[in-house]
Amino acid sequence: MNAPSPVSDLRNTFQRGTTRPIQWRREQLLGLRRLLRDNEVALTTALHQDLRKSATEALLTEIGVVITEIDHTLTHLRRWLRPRRVRIPIKLHPARATVVREPLGVVLVIAPWNYPLQLVLGPLVGALAAGNTVVLRPSELAPATSRILAELVPRYLDRRAVRVVEGGVEATTSLLGERFDHIFFTGSGRVGRIVLEAAAANLTPVTLELGGKSPVWVDETADLTVAARRIAWGKFVNAGQTCVAPDYVLTTPRARPAVEAALREAITELFGHDPRHSPDYARIVSADHLARLTKFLDDGAVAAGGQVDEHARYFAPTVLTDVDPTSAVMQQEIFGPILPIVEVADVDAAVDFVNDRDKPLALYVFTGSAPVRRRFQRHTSSGAVICGTALLHLAVPELPFGGVGPSGMGAYHGERSIATFSHDKAVLDKPLRPDLTRLIEPPYNRFGRWLVRLLSTMPSTTSHLAATQRWAAPTRKVRDDRQ
Ligand code: NAD
Repeated sequence: MNAPSPVSDLRNTFQRGTTRPIQWRREQLLGLRRLLRDNEVALTTALHQDLRKSATEALLTEIGVVITEIDHTLTHLRRWLRPRRVRIPIKLHPARATVVREPLGVVLVIAPWNYPLQLVLGPLVGALAAGNTVVLRPSELAPATSRILAELVPRYLDRRAVRVVEGGVEATTSLLGERFDHIFFTGSGRVGRIVLEAAAANLTPVTLELGGKSPVWVDETADLTVAARRIAWGKFVNAGQTCVAPDYVLTTPRARPAVEAALREAITELFGHDPRHSPDYARIVSADHLARLTKFLDDGAVAAGGQVDEHARYFAPTVLTDVDPTSAVMQQEIFGPILPIVEVADVDAAVDFVNDRDKPLALYVFTGSAPVRRRFQRHTSSGAVICGTALLHLAVPELPFGGVGPSGMGAYHGERSIATFSHDKAVLDKPLRPDLTRLIEPPYNRFGRWLVRLLSTMPSTTSHLAATQRWAAPTRKVRDDRQ
């Protein structure tokens, strides 16, 4: 039998105003920081049990990412929450217009299994900092991490405001029947659709952090040793079970042999001659997932790896060549340690290849040529475009993290998280005297008509024009690459 829903308790907490003071929000973030620091060993052990993640990888990609997010938020929170005065058109003076960030209420965070800590606690940072109460739904496919979160969260955070609901699909389905003020979902597009449909019943706003196939372009002008090592790290960290993992490589027939050789060397450098014995190489989450990946081996020639051990849920870091773009491995998100190399004639063909498919979550470019980098930045669309490295954009809190089209809806990290979990409320405060708006109220006469025409054709304010120019300009004098 399901436990009683915590939503009404959380709504009461929210309505009593408990979560509004900045001090309360800061205390929660500090509590979360303590949770991570005090329990580092227990948390890394749980992650090892679930995915055989090494402690270093767990620190780097799970605990460390959340701590960075907490620290960045603590540093800037006051500024982000400050009401923002905005200009008003001359014709509406005197008045004061302000944008006020207010919390939404009760937020549901649904997380997947692949980064079972980071993807529960990362959104939690934003939701708490924005002043919400939160239901956390960790993935049942990472049971050790789910268990320890359910144990620790009530010890370190305000129990009136944060609840962990464990369980499987049934538990999520029952939660989705409740009314939330925001649903933050990380997972597959398939379940994303289910979440969106459930949210529609209550008109609940939704953030969808989904996946897809993130392409890599690499050409012979890149330093292939470094490029291959960075691609291999991004691909094979967590055994390829990363939403922004490089999914496949696009390169030219001329560069392909060198790229293939460099990738083989990089795999050996990172994980040794037999990655099965590397303490730094993770395992596949389940037997079903392993079976799904094993079928992909038929879709190309194995140029590296290819070994599978069902019992240990081991799948070697694998490179596939001679891959047909219509094969299953090139149709589905791989989400495992298989890296197909696809040959295309040139950079134009690579751009077309990307644009002919779903908009990816990330696009990686490895080239020594600035025009080629710009070409990808300007002529493709993706959640992010990253040149010269893989995955690290998610460690930059000032960059919004999210997809576009089938790879997701909405974004978070840094201030974007506050925007996601807040409502920017418009507040207009106009004194009753002088009563100038009387001039544009009925009964209308010739003077009123003349005045309305005048007001509606005049530029509203000179400062308004300046603001328009400011909005159109890229921030911080970043070079405008849109020509
Ligand atoms: P999933 O969609 O199967 O599951 C995600 C969550 O939804 C889990 O908590 C699960 O319990 C729940 N769920 C599953 N089936 C459900 C149903 N029928 N009704 C209601 N809830 C249900 O995803 P996953 O397998 O856990 O994770 C892999 C996917 O997540 C990949 O597509 C990957 O790209 C994506 N992902 C995206 C990001 C990102 O930040 N964009 C991060 C990690 C993973």
